[in-house]
Amino acid sequence: MARVYNFSAGPSMLPLEVLKTAAAEMCEYGSSGQSVMEMSHRSKEYEAIINETRDLLRELMEIPENYEILFLQGGASSQFAMVPLNLMTRSGKADFVITGQWANKAYKEAARYGQANVVASSADKTYSYIPKLDPSTFTKDADYFHICLNNTIYGTKYHTLPDTGDVPLVADISSCILSEPLDVSKFGLLYAGAQKNLAPAGVTIVIIRKDLIGEPQAITPTMFTYKIHAENESMFNTPPCYTIHVAGLVLKWIKNSIGGLQEMKKRNEKKAALLYDFLDQSKLFRGTVVKEDRSLMNVPFVTGDQELDAKFVAEAKAAGFVNLKGHRSVGGMRASIYNAMPMEGVEALVAFMEKFEQENR
Ligand SMILES: *Cc1c(COP(=O)(O)O)cnc(C)c1O
Repeated sequence: MARVYNFSAGPSMLPLEVLKTAAAEMCEYGSSGQSVMEMSHRSKEYEAIINETRDLLRELMEIPENYEILFLQGGASSQFAMVPLNLMTRSGKADFVITGQWANKAYKEAARYGQANVVASSADKTYSYIPKLDPSTFTKDADYFHICLNNTIYGTKYHTLPDTGDVPLVADISSCILSEPLDVSKFGLLYAGAQKNLAPAGVTIVIIRKDLIGEPQAITPTMFTYKIHAENESMFNTPPCYTIHVAGLVLKWIKNSIGGLQEMKKRNEKKAALLYDFLDQSKLFRGTVVKEDRSLMNVPFVTGDQELDAKFVAEAKAAGFVNLKGHRSVGGMRASIYNAMPMEGVEALVAFMEKFEQENR
């Protein structure tokens, strides 16, 4: 077996321990005589799996009892529509901060179902910072206020949350879920596609305050109705059974092998600091994000010379560091260092970058 260090922004690395467990139980889960892939989602065995996964997520993220956890499909992108369809139901207004492509897509989709207002944007500097927010500019009677907590493509994250008062804060946490503790009680709704930091693609996590689960807009498809999924405990139709199971394995890994989200955060901070410290002293490479808004998970960087960037990406790939090419809208490089990326992966990358710098000065 020869595994590379995979810096993909998503789908991304899973912990090796989890992959090994999944492999060992591929043909028979426990003494069930079948793979989890083959199980009826209504079986006792599967019910135990989804319940345990939900309980573990609640425990690790310290999700209060007045929040529902939903396992849905359709990716974070479906939430761009599902959130407004279910929440834009009183004033029909919502506020958005545009910190990148995902935030912008959430805004554009919501604008189809109600009055979506942009309160701030960092488009002027290629989303390399989080805009300073002035609560006096927020819509007082908005049904919700939407942010993208960690901006996967641009490598920024909110280090402080906007103060939205009584307006529920909604956050896309696709690329930072479980990377560090998060005070769930500060939010009305959180959502995340699984394939960055939790599981293979296929399941979308929604964590919603129970009082926000109401009647959706009249045009809302049944499958896009939170109430239906909440009432049916994410079993209204067949859930993405196997992906939910792997999410459960990842949660067990965080709990038992890492030691919880405080420990996860420490590890992630160490990894990120190693890379950022290198970038800050390098004469060849530099990070593209203002220091105070840097992400723990996605680290974009450039040399300032497109040909040299391409050479770096190619040589890195040949050396076993894959998916380092930056998003086409930013160029350069991006190292996504999610939970499953071990410290050794970042150490090896930094050593490789040092060598590249010496050879290309
Ligand atoms: C990847 C990503 C998305 C899109 O997720 P899908 O599951 O592919 O729909 C949305 N938001 C953020 C922050 C992401 O990183």
